Amino acid sequence: MTKKLSITILLEYYMLVSRRKFLTVAASTALATLGFPFLSKSGATRGFGNAEEIERVILMILDGSRYEYVYRMPHLRKIVENFGFSFTNAETIMTSNTVAAHVSIITGAYPEKTGVSGNAIYIREEDFYQFVMHSPRHIQAETMVESVKKQDDGIKVAFVTGKWRVPSNIAFSRDGGLIADIVLTGYRSGIPITPVEYRNVVGIPEIHRQSLGSDVRDSWCIPAAYQVIKRDDPDFMMLNLASTDVLEHIYGPDSPKFAPHLLDLDSMLALLFKKLENEGKLSSTLFVITSDHGQHNIYNVFNMAEFLKKNGYEAEILLEGSSAFLYLREPEKRGEVVELLNGLKAKGIVKEALPVEDYHRYSLPKNGWAGDVLVILQEGWVAGFWGLTSTDAKIPLRRIRSEVSVPGDHGGNSSNEIHVPMIFIGPGIQPGSSSERVSIVDVAPTICDLMGWKMPADAQGRSLAEVIGYA
Ligand SMILES: [Zn+2]
Repeated sequence: MTKKLSITILLEYYMLVSRRKFLTVAASTALATLGFPFLSKSGATRGFGNAEEIERVILMILDGSRYEYVYRMPHLRKIVENFGFSFTNAETIMTSNTVAAHVSIITGAYPEKTGVSGNAIYIREEDFYQFVMHSPRHIQAETMVESVKKQDDGIKVAFVTGKWRVPSNIAFSRDGGLIADIVLTGYRSGIPITPVEYRNVVGIPEIHRQSLGSDVRDSWCIPAAYQVIKRDDPDFMMLNLASTDVLEHIYGPDSPKFAPHLLDLDSMLALLFKKLENEGKLSSTLFVITSDHGQHNIYNVFNMAEFLKKNGYEAEILLEGSSAFLYLREPEKRGEVVELLNGLKAKGIVKEALPVEDYHRYSLPKNGWAGDVLVILQEGWVAGFWGLTSTDAKIPLRRIRSEVSVPGDHGGNSSNEIHVPMIFIGPGIQPGSSSERVSIVDVAPTICDLMGWKMPADAQGRSLAEVIGYA
């Protein structure tokens, strides 16, 4: 979508809003005449969720989206208000990072069961470290892809993701075999992952050059998702849209430079919905819109390694943005270290430090992978971009980069980081909202319940089918 076109769509919207003051004509009808017939409530075959049955599920993860972003997107907001069921108190897991959250979404389980508590992974006994976890072999819980394929191998599963690290962890079974039917994503080691037959249709992925992981732009992912639905019509698609997260990291979520992105994304989604309607697939699709985490603006970097060293403690530090896991050389001293770090609460740096025996409070794993101590920083603070550092190691490049150019980050548990959107739109779902406290681990159980699919074996979340009025 060109910028010009998106501006036109927005102008139409704002003109409509001003006209509403004077006209009693329903806004949805007026929008229909402006080329958005999906907003019309009239016409039995039109619109969201008018079909008898759900024929496919699109799990849309707006990577890095705070709860309120959906309501800053004019078309999406209107769709949600008219056709969606919205949970106003949905939370992600701790730590609020992409890999851990996507794993929890797809397993329906908290990190205490998945074993994945952040973006990176460090296993002390093996001295095994990955800067970004890129393998399903460390996921200790069954994923929804595994469970539905076990039930019926004919259930078609697709991943269209801006981040390669999403399918690299969850489009595979834990023994390493690809079990998703279609994977369209970015690059790995410079090689495009998208299958050739699709590359001819959707082109070479457009990447965010500023981003560390060659994350692909929404302007490629959204048309690519449309092509997959049109050509292969999967039963289940996970669509991860990475641009929100990438641009927040670069500019900061409260920056005026970030704000226009939400309007661009909104226009692209509106076009996707319109095209799906033209294909006759809008009314029979269940859309689940959520996020893996939000972001907050970073004003300060806390040098965890230096602080520990100064106080005479040695540790490996697994940085997870606004939180960090400490693997102490002397784990028995964790009580002292927790006390020392909690002494920084009054200075406005540390929000909370807790020892491994208290990890159950955040449903974190106690298998040793998450170290001896978790430190959660206050809003506005970051311990460094994810990755490992130690008291003796030189500060890695990624850390320097974070100190000069990451105005937005996440990993902690401020409201901006953990409060996420969770919206269900589709056949049999009553429009409305609930302030009940729900979690991203409820997503997979709800989808499985609605679709009559086998629940992932280790799911801890619950089906929200009744709450959303599914009948
Ligand atoms: Zn993310």
